Amino acid sequence: MPATVKNLIGGEWVEARSGEVFETLNPATEEVLGTAAKSGAEDVSAAVEAAKAAYQGWRLTPAPRRGEILFRAGRLLMERKEELARLMTQEMGKVIAEARGDVQEAIDMAFYMGGEGRRLLGYTAPVELPNKFGMAIRDSVGVVGLITPWNFPIAIPSWKSLPALIAGNTVVFKAASYTPTLGAEFVRTFQDAGLPPGVFNVVSGPGGAVGNAIVEHPDVKVISFTGSTEIGYSLYARAAQHGKKVSLELGGKNAIIVMDDANLDLALNSALWSAFGTTGQRCTATSRLILQKGIAPDFKEALVERAKQLKLGDGLDESVDVGPLVSAPARENVHRYVEIGKGEARLMCGGQPASVDGKGYFYEVTIFDRVEPGMRIAQEEIFGPVLSIIECSTLEEAIQINNNTAYGLSSSLFTENVNAAFQAIRDLSTGIVYINHGTIGAEIQFPFGGTRGTGNGMREAGQTALDTFTEWKAVYVDYSGRLQRAQIDTEAVLGKDA
Ligand code: NAP
Repeated sequence: MPATVKNLIGGEWVEARSGEVFETLNPATEEVLGTAAKSGAEDVSAAVEAAKAAYQGWRLTPAPRRGEILFRAGRLLMERKEELARLMTQEMGKVIAEARGDVQEAIDMAFYMGGEGRRLLGYTAPVELPNKFGMAIRDSVGVVGLITPWNFPIAIPSWKSLPALIAGNTVVFKAASYTPTLGAEFVRTFQDAGLPPGVFNVVSGPGGAVGNAIVEHPDVKVISFTGSTEIGYSLYARAAQHGKKVSLELGGKNAIIVMDDANLDLALNSALWSAFGTTGQRCTATSRLILQKGIAPDFKEALVERAKQLKLGDGLDESVDVGPLVSAPARENVHRYVEIGKGEARLMCGGQPASVDGKGYFYEVTIFDRVEPGMRIAQEEIFGPVLSIIECSTLEEAIQINNNTAYGLSSSLFTENVNAAFQAIRDLSTGIVYINHGTIGAEIQFPFGGTRGTGNGMREAGQTALDTFTEWKAVYVDYSGRLQRAQIDTEAVLGKDA
């Protein structure tokens, strides 16, 4: 574990201009891991200058060559997978198997986007005048600003930086303040892979100072943000005043629906994994379980019994199921919601902060029963190991409950009835829909994002990621040697020159 995390600006690892630092903590043991540069607007300006200076060279590097560097970075991430996964468990608490998955997502993205170096597909279409050619191509935009949360400290930066880089942009990246080491180590991998200085810069420090400076800097053309809806929407408004394109990936309030005819063992295992994996700190975590009335009593009993067996602890221990929450304030926030829930619904298990060997920001796995769809615990994102059970009579009612929140990220239906499955695919109004699988576990080759308060209509991952980081350029080549007026000379062409 490096003792001090510095900023990478123009290919040099440097301290914050102010010389200030902040501490990073292991949320399972509360031990101080090290310090990171506490940067501000001046550091952001220096990073943007470096990214601007590197832009022309990178933009004009043939995309297949850019792709080769991404492939090298992918191979280095493979070599460093275990090291980075252990660092992740220590810096933000997720259990080691999930931390490996987080790094794997970045490896997958590196190879996927490396391949885009030989695609970045545009298109041609017929044109209406003779001796004329038309095509649409993707163009880079310049310097892009990336702001990410701590819950996927390698995967989410990869979802943003890799499409941005392959498209020929240069990057200023602010990692979350709970995970600055992972942000810096991720970028170091690209430096080691041969990315030219200034193409990928990283600056750590508080969101209010560093994030804001990125959002307001006139030379940053695109902002890609993942985090809370509150901060996302406020920066969206500020960025709009500067005419910037913004991609937002925000909160979730995801549900699993289990019908009477479902494979109940599968649904049970999936609900436990989706609700309590990553200690419920995934944007796609299941926080509502909508049970059809016929199976509800037995299902609830089995669920609570299994939930009580989940082992809390330091995620470096391979036998641990549920790690700590990321911080003391995060735990206070979860407990505040649980107290609200105790007044609204029936607590079936959990409900208290916990510690392991007297340390750590742990929270008991918590399940509420007799939850009504409009209750606060059924509507607001809690971002912890808290699951609310709601009962329903029909699929239509379940779908309506699912759709009736301020968020629209992921939803899931368990049924053995193919007609019900297709009805749900049609009517569940979330950006991601699963059939017979919980709400977590997206793959990088498909669009990722949500409707309503989960975002602003943009998507990450897959081909759609390129839309955030490119502008379309329409190109017309007229090789007729004379003035041809589109929409006006068409009849003359048909009559005389066709
Ligand atoms: P957050 O508090 O909104 O922070 C996200 C990022 O924004 C951090 O880097 C933060 O910096 C920065 N930031 C804070 N204030 C800012 C400001 N005024 N201007 C610009 N940037 C600012 O979210 P979080 O607690 O890290 O992450 C949890 C949230 O992310 C949850 O709501 C979760 O659902 C959401 N999430 C969504 C997705 C998705 O794809 N839909 C994926 C994962 C997580 P600091 O760290 O320095 O505060």
